[in-house]
Amino acid sequence: MGCIFCQIAAGQIPSDILHKDDKVIAFRDIHPQAPTHILIVPVKHIANLTQLETGDGFNTVAHVFEVANTLACNEGIAERGYRIAVNSGKEGGQVVGHLHFHLLGGRQLSGELG
Ligand code: 5GP
Ligand code: ZN
Repeated sequence: MGCIFCQIAAGQIPSDILHKDDKVIAFRDIHPQAPTHILIVPVKHIANLTQLETGDGFNTVAHVFEVANTLACNEGIAERGYRIAVNSGKEGGQVVGHLHFHLLGGRQLSGELG
């Protein structure tokens, strides 16, 4: 298969899973950049934002944000504030070629985005 996030979704590589349903899986980033750093990932292999062509893909993104709201509450950062970031494509800084949403919080985040 070759895709690390597909392998995590399939349970073939261990990870600290916080949520899993038929559309979305969420697990802690292996190299956290903030006290809360969770990756929210469509179960289906979608390479990046540009590959989100079907309505089904966009519905999954809506569900990603539902899951993010719940996780932010569970992490105790919903009121303090947090950031959801997507790196898409090479110049967007994407390293893992399976679309994922970073949920970052638990400290004052930098104002810089690029
Ligand atoms: P990107 O730069 O592609 O947006 O972010 C990829 C993220 O995936 C990085 O923050 C990196 O630490 C994380 N990551 C890469 N490999 C693994 C892994 O095997 N397990 C987990 N939990 N996170 C990973
Ligand atoms: Zn994949």
